[in-house]
Amino acid sequence: MTAASPTPEASSPHVMNTYGRLPIALSHGQGCHVWDTHGKCYLDALGGIAVNTLGHNHAKLVPALQDQISKIIHSCNYYHVPNQEVLAKKLVELSGMCNVFFCSTGLEANEAALKLARKFGHDKGIERPEIVVFEKAFHGRSIATLSATGNPKVQAGFGPLVEGFIRVPLNDIESLKHATAGNPNVVAVFLEAIQGEGGVNPMHLDYLREVRSLCDARDWLMMVDEVQCGMGRTGKWFAHQWAGIVPDVMPLAKGLGSGVPVGAVVAGPKAAHIFQPGNHGTTFGGNPLAMRAGVETIRIMEEDGLLENAARVGAHLSQGLATALAAELACGSVREIRGQGLMIGVDLTKPCGALVQQCADNGLLISVTADTVIRLVPPLIMTQAEADDVVRILCPLIRQLLQVQ
Ligand SMILES: *Cc1c(COP(=O)(O)O)cnc(C)c1O
Repeated sequence: MTAASPTPEASSPHVMNTYGRLPIALSHGQGCHVWDTHGKCYLDALGGIAVNTLGHNHAKLVPALQDQISKIIHSCNYYHVPNQEVLAKKLVELSGMCNVFFCSTGLEANEAALKLARKFGHDKGIERPEIVVFEKAFHGRSIATLSATGNPKVQAGFGPLVEGFIRVPLNDIESLKHATAGNPNVVAVFLEAIQGEGGVNPMHLDYLREVRSLCDARDWLMMVDEVQCGMGRTGKWFAHQWAGIVPDVMPLAKGLGSGVPVGAVVAGPKAAHIFQPGNHGTTFGGNPLAMRAGVETIRIMEEDGLLENAARVGAHLSQGLATALAAELACGSVREIRGQGLMIGVDLTKPCGALVQQCADNGLLISVTADTVIRLVPPLIMTQAEADDVVRILCPLIRQLLQVQ
């Protein structure tokens, strides 16, 4: 424990300047709280962007990871990694799907999904496969996944984009039918069940069912990016399960390893045998540390009833926000509070990026996305009392922001 921790104020001339960072460096955490290097305490309603499923320093996770680190961290995919089978079997049970490819991040899981869709097409004799994607979507920052992303800011400066995407608006089945009419090259529809970065925008459950039927009728893959909304956050294991459907391809990451980088792409019967040896691979993916983190995260979530907790505390938090902001909702300065479970967006009528620092000053970590949307994606262990604290700190700052011209 001798490594010097740099002060948060120090600029980082050797770190590429890709983030507008807050002048805060976190040093440690416990449960839903974190402390910075000056000892200031924050309530964590961001969870490292929907990653820290079990919060910080979890009493069951930490010893398991310590045990794993002392045994083997990485071995590589030239050998069997027994916990790959354990975690894959678990994900297959929870999703009702068939098999799993492991990687390390969300964009890699989506990249694998896009490759699956293209090869699905090629295997059917479609030389130039096309994939339906959505306005405001976010799928990652590799060249292929930023091309699938529906945000010009993410794409600016990185052209030429990857071709073969057809973009449609959310929750409008007629647009989807119209955009694909008579096109024999379509192979897949790729969507987030609840868009995260795009502003916490849920796909309607009816719409998900309509997309499922259309994909069945046309022999397309339904690919649901659950990187942010999956892994119990909405109160079900996967957000699409609220619609009672099963996708053909499901990328996962973020919350899957509770902070250890783990990504996965889960495949149903239509996609399970597309990849053959040599078609895809990764050095880090599925390594023993990552797999142990995934196995233990799910085990602890089940033991501690965290799906139920996410549903219950999420409903309590949404209700608390709606009550505290009743006047603003009535007059329309707060447009909407939306989401499911512990994935909540508060959509304001004005840009609210300034709230991130103001909340931090008041001991609360949040994020703002799509300019006007406060995003709350806390650890799934959050208590009702902590949810009440979120409301108590956040809502006066929202009111104050809305009052300033
Ligand atoms: C965060 C996110 C990604 C990208 O994940 P990375 O691990 O940052 O590559 C992809 N899709 C969705 C829905 C996400 O929220």
